[in-house]
Amino acid sequence: MVNMACPCLGEEEKEAIGKIIDSGMIACGNITTEFENRFSAYVGVKHGIGTTSGTTALEVAIKALGLGQGDKILTTAYSFIASTNAILYAGATPIFADIKEESFNIDPQDIDRIVSKNPDIKALLIVHLFGKACDMDRIMELVKKHHLLLIEDCAQAHGCKWKGRTVGTFGDVAAYSFYPTKNMTTGEGGMVLTSNDDVAERARMLINHGMKIRYHHEIVGYNYRMTNLAASIGLCQLEKLKQMNKARQEHAKVYDEGISNTKIILPKKDQGHVYHQYTIRVVDELRNNFIRYLDQNQIGYGVFYPLTIPEQKCYENFAFLKNYLHADIIKEQVVSIPVHPKLKREELDYVVEKINKFEV
Ligand SMILES: *Cc1c(COP(=O)(O)O)cnc(C)c1O
Repeated sequence: MVNMACPCLGEEEKEAIGKIIDSGMIACGNITTEFENRFSAYVGVKHGIGTTSGTTALEVAIKALGLGQGDKILTTAYSFIASTNAILYAGATPIFADIKEESFNIDPQDIDRIVSKNPDIKALLIVHLFGKACDMDRIMELVKKHHLLLIEDCAQAHGCKWKGRTVGTFGDVAAYSFYPTKNMTTGEGGMVLTSNDDVAERARMLINHGMKIRYHHEIVGYNYRMTNLAASIGLCQLEKLKQMNKARQEHAKVYDEGISNTKIILPKKDQGHVYHQYTIRVVDELRNNFIRYLDQNQIGYGVFYPLTIPEQKCYENFAFLKNYLHADIIKEQVVSIPVHPKLKREELDYVVEKINKFEV
């Protein structure tokens, strides 16, 4: 079986966890701080605030900007559900834009169209999907033109770059996830990143019951603190991130150069892509046949995502627009194939060979 995901955990993580256990300080503490400092420095922003997940990081990011009840936030119709749920947790109202077919990312032209019609939209929440950066030239133009706050969901984009600049540094605030299938992990975990001192201070309070001084609660906050245990794994993973991303990029190159089936559209090449997923498109309504074929040949795969966000059942009573020209095409075509760092050359060659032999 060629597996879809495989966290790269080893002796370093075991040793680090062991040290934390020996210290007795397993909850949020100095190792959390060290990881926050290292990860924020790696991305290139001033502050990092560790959280319990990418989802809680997104929620805190939105609330730390002061967004809430009655505020409209424009986001992508095509992502993991957490990017929209976080908007709802904060009490704000999501509005959805379509994507571009060749990048799977939010379409700047659609952002411009929607915000021009709805000038009360306050913020834009973008997702660098599958490890590929959104079109940040166009997006920064639109952020300026329409005076929008910008939130970056970097849950799938650790180390991803747009024209040499790391994602997470463009927005007013960014959120990362460290779930085991992501490019680096802490088990569960996330981080809010920002260079804005006020946003950082609010985020820090929000994750710790709204307090700066112990037992003096200034706002209603949460317990979303990252533990020393999680952070100790994160520090080891950060050391390996460059290498792990390089392996993903090399694996993607094998697919780029090897897959030549005319029923398959390959992802657009991009220097800064960190291939959280290698996502191909199967044309001519052949996806069901294709995934059955992968099953028969013991090749793991994922369909990210079979539905757009606004059409999910949990939102059936929300007045969300349900139709999106490009996202509705893409959701029927996408298949992600294994690209994780631990794949062997023989496995990659096997996947290429099988995909090239797929016929109708
Ligand atoms: C994984 C993910 C999240 C949520 O992260 P968790 O750590 O699982 O809560 C948010 N947005 C996107 C795009 C994701 O892929």
